[in-house]
Amino acid sequence: MEVAAFKSCLRNQLLTTVSIQIGAVFFYNYISLLGAYMIKIAFFDTHSYDKDSFKKIADENISITFFEMRLSKQTVNLCKGYDAVCVFVNDDVSKEVVKQLYENGVKLIALRCAGYNNVDLTACFGKIHVVHVPAYSPNAVAEHTMALLLTSIRRIHKAYNRTRDYNFSLEGMTGFNLNGKTVGVIGTGRIGRIFADICKGFGMNVLAYDKFPNESYGLNYVSLETLFKESDIISLHCPLTDETKHLINSDSIKMMKKGVVILNTSRGGLLDAEALLEGIKERKIGAACLDVYEEESDIFFSDKSGHILNDEVLARLISMPNVIVTSHQAFLTTEALDNIAETTIENINSYFNNDEPVKNELCYCCGNMDRCRKERKAKCF
Ligand code: NAD
Repeated sequence: MEVAAFKSCLRNQLLTTVSIQIGAVFFYNYISLLGAYMIKIAFFDTHSYDKDSFKKIADENISITFFEMRLSKQTVNLCKGYDAVCVFVNDDVSKEVVKQLYENGVKLIALRCAGYNNVDLTACFGKIHVVHVPAYSPNAVAEHTMALLLTSIRRIHKAYNRTRDYNFSLEGMTGFNLNGKTVGVIGTGRIGRIFADICKGFGMNVLAYDKFPNESYGLNYVSLETLFKESDIISLHCPLTDETKHLINSDSIKMMKKGVVILNTSRGGLLDAEALLEGIKERKIGAACLDVYEEESDIFFSDKSGHILNDEVLARLISMPNVIVTSHQAFLTTEALDNIAETTIENINSYFNNDEPVKNELCYCCGNMDRCRKERKAKCF
């Protein structure tokens, strides 16, 4: 504390007495040496819980301006004069926005999430570096997935509403046991593996599919087709890519068991919502639990009560008795928020400290994060 106070005192003196005489360059070098260069961050799509977690770990070298609006073509010019932007899942970091960020002098895009399908990494290459938070709490997402499943199949959401109205009837409340059922887990990364473990704890039979299966995980890997055909419950935990877009579609639904329960806490685009709705209407799909939705960016994370929902498919899905929707909240635990804030600040400092390689930098070249993390010794460009 004493050293910090001394540094701060010295820095203040330098700022007030020396700066004008020694000129801008010398001044900058001086305060940089003392670690006093203030990194300016424009923080988009801010919610109260973001402010709380980021303020908790305030860093004296970082100044954050919190904007409630999302980053988009319309808001990108707010970034003039900032060194970095901090964005979340539904901010628009498309080619055009990247170009504007670059022209505005922004050097770093710090994603405070794991997924980066909203960032045009090719457009960033050679211009702006991108860092993300690869894992903030896979347990939070896996546990939320199980919470959704249990709520749905034991009708907890209905019981909650009924008993609040002193309706103690059990009509229509019959559920089913998880023990002995087969769950198909698509994507056996951090979250998928924890979810598989939780399911095993319930005595379920776990089938797994991954593009890059890892035999050391001790999972029963099967083909996607077998997983679709044999699972009572299917849970999505793979990233959204061109290859996985609408992985759940009318053809895959045809292969599934009647009464199958579909869980999606990964990305909305993995599932064709119209095909899901059809499957529900035909009584082929027994239940669906969705924490994500393909068109969520204009809907989720804000209070739309009192408004007419313009998305017919989502409105119809929500109206179904066997569909539960949460608005991308699987990550939302205190532990995860603290991890996100801590890692994001570390990533930002790593970039501005000129670390080689930059902590959690995304790779634009090979696209294989795991290989890159092990082999890369420097910044991406
Ligand atoms: P991860 O990278 O650890 O695991 C993803 C797994 O998917 C890997 O094993 C990978 O090999 C596999 N995979 C890649 N392509 C595939 C394909 N074509 N088919 C099948 N499997 C494929 O990621 P994670 O941390 O476990 O996160 C999983 C997903 O969860 C992320 O993509 C993210 O979009 C989502 N997520 C959602 C929330 C939320 O709040 N709802 C929070 C965090 C992450």
